[in-house]
Amino acid sequence: MDTILIVEDEKTIRDFVATALRNGGFAPREADCAEAAMRELAAGGCDAVLLDLGLPDRDGLSLLREIREQSDLPVIIVSARSQENDKVLALDYGADDYITKPFGTPELLARIRAALRRHPSAGEKPADRYSVGELTIDYERRLVTLGGEEVHLTVNEYRLVELLSRHPGRVLTYDAISQAIWGQEARRSNQLLRVNMANIRRKLEQNPAEPRYIHTEVGVGYRMAENV
Ligand code: CA
Repeated sequence: MDTILIVEDEKTIRDFVATALRNGGFAPREADCAEAAMRELAAGGCDAVLLDLGLPDRDGLSLLREIREQSDLPVIIVSARSQENDKVLALDYGADDYITKPFGTPELLARIRAALRRHPSAGEKPADRYSVGELTIDYERRLVTLGGEEVHLTVNEYRLVELLSRHPGRVLTYDAISQAIWGQEARRSNQLLRVNMANIRRKLEQNPAEPRYIHTEVGVGYRMAENV
């Protein structure tokens, strides 16, 4: 059974999350401030962390950085709507995902399971293909097919789709994607990314306005579907 550390100062939310985790087959541990969280982590045995950004004793982002200096434990940020910018920063600082309050139990459990799946045990081979719904991406052959038909992508469109599909279910920020595809100078300039994404969606999505494969996380980035 995976142990999840809940770092949250509001008792009602902590209780709700702990109950949801127990019902979902996880073993919750609780910390009501950053200091308690570091104590729990030092004690060991945690498999993932749910981290509230608004903590009484310390900024959640600085706590995240400290956690990242010590481990690559899956960290899911729990943020309020007022913390949109912090959410993006947190992803750039190495958080695995975020969930916005208020959230329901199914969404919470799905995010935790996905984050745990993305941290395979050492020595496991990376996937050689992405296959969801009608869409298949063969990394070895750089071949994209939709319903068995080859899809012709430009070099950068393919690199974008490969990058996102190698992290299914995970949100990648606009900056992280732009930097990976176009390099340092493209940071903070997301126009190229938007244009490429519009072209990709025209080729991959039946209805580009309601994408099934590549979802927009408004103000944050893109998330490739794990299933449709
Ligand atoms: Ca809080």
